[in-house]
Amino acid sequence: MTTKRSFSEALADPAQLSVTWELVPGRGAREKAQEHFVKMAELAAKDPKINAITVTDNPGGKSAILAYSMAIEAKRLGIDPLVHFTSKDKNRNALESELYALDRADIQNLLVMTGDYPGAGYAGSAKPVFDLDAVHALRMITKMNEGAYTKLPATKFFAGAVVSPFKSTEAEIMAQYYKLHKKIANGAKFIITQLGYDARKFDELRKYVDTHTLTVPLIGNIFVLSLPVAKLMNKNLIPGCVVTDSLVAKLEEESTYSNKKELQLLRAAKLYAVLKGLKYNGVNIGGHGLSYIDVQYIIEKGEELSVNWQEIAADDFDHPQDGGFYFFEKESATGLNTCQPVNRSQTGSSNSSLKQSLMDVVHEVAFDHKAPLYPLNKAIAQFIDKSWLKQPFTLAEYTTKTMTNECRFCGDCAMHELGFICPMSQCPKQQRNGACGGSRDGWCEVYPGKQKCIFVTMYEGFKGRGKEERMKAKYMPPCNWDLHRTSSWLNYFNDRDYNNNKE
Ligand code: SF4
Repeated sequence: MTTKRSFSEALADPAQLSVTWELVPGRGAREKAQEHFVKMAELAAKDPKINAITVTDNPGGKSAILAYSMAIEAKRLGIDPLVHFTSKDKNRNALESELYALDRADIQNLLVMTGDYPGAGYAGSAKPVFDLDAVHALRMITKMNEGAYTKLPATKFFAGAVVSPFKSTEAEIMAQYYKLHKKIANGAKFIITQLGYDARKFDELRKYVDTHTLTVPLIGNIFVLSLPVAKLMNKNLIPGCVVTDSLVAKLEEESTYSNKKELQLLRAAKLYAVLKGLKYNGVNIGGHGLSYIDVQYIIEKGEELSVNWQEIAADDFDHPQDGGFYFFEKESATGLNTCQPVNRSQTGSSNSSLKQSLMDVVHEVAFDHKAPLYPLNKAIAQFIDKSWLKQPFTLAEYTTKTMTNECRFCGDCAMHELGFICPMSQCPKQQRNGACGGSRDGWCEVYPGKQKCIFVTMYEGFKGRGKEERMKAKYMPPCNWDLHRTSSWLNYFNDRDYNNNKE
């Protein structure tokens, strides 16, 4: 008889897929959702094939019972929880508090992500926080695991992150992959994909990770898709989840069949088979109201079908997005990818504006530490900093940046590192290290059809100047709120800004 292994043990075993089952804690404390959670976790605890229960954190930005509280219940029932850990509605101190609580409860597995934009709540919409992005949170957890920063005994968190290969534009895909490098460099120990049904995209991520020697286990997301949910995802009403028109049409056809539920589960089992064939290290199974029997079926049928995974990939998961970008050239024999990246000088758009080129020049001449005017500017800034000029200078900087970039007066400006785009005013989630997972066709998750994702604009601008690799190069620390309402130029030249962040 197989013995039950923890999530991290299962992921480390190349001979077998690890299996996590995603359960949504739901709204309320003693409602159907929590009862279902407990019943299913109890059954999963007895099954050696299920290694962990994934516990979501306010999906869709709507409030639900704390993921942490349900994770404790899962732990008590004897199954490892994998807790979604987001900063959408908590600042860095609240996140740290949550980490202490998780540590005390001996809950180590965390899935660190940006989180969906907060939605409707008591007396109106909730205030979005996003004090840290996913890369910052991973780094903070790594520092706690090293016993650094808190100067307390080292923690043992096993933290992973999310990536979406299911983006349609080159800029979005590259923004996802560049951020993936930063997530891994800052401590992500495993990576879970967003939701999608395109085998070539799953294969792309596998090959991207392998060819860039990003040695982390990959977990593919399997969501049992019903027609109503597929339609919501197709209309971009569930952030980051991609269901194409061709797949909706297929589900519409199936909806007239009496065995439509079986077909939905069979599709999930087939995706399991494909992910196993593509050498993913694990799968994360989810879906509304899934029963233990459903999950068992997906695992067993998926194992049985895995010998024919290539056929299944070609027949059932060929759902490209219209004009969608792929990082690698297509392999005609399989419909998947070769290991040859496409020539990106001939794809996508590049759009460096005159303003960006001019700002680059100004930075290289006056601001960069090696700039010819840097010593003079530093001396002037040191003088101003100690004189009555400090206040008018600060006001002048704020006024200028308000006119050009809707400045939010954070005092810790990083625009010159980010293609002269301000993440504080122009990204609703204030991301400093790369795009969240919610963009669709280049548009921002929060303002679809109205505002481009800033990382799309940034990529296109950098690409126009041959500097797009900069988006993965430098870790951008979070804002230091001590500097709020002060001059970021004075902070920069007086060595007080994020470049001097002592972590
Ligand atoms: S601008 Fe981009 S990173 Fe920011 S919230 Fe919108 S989609 Fe996400």
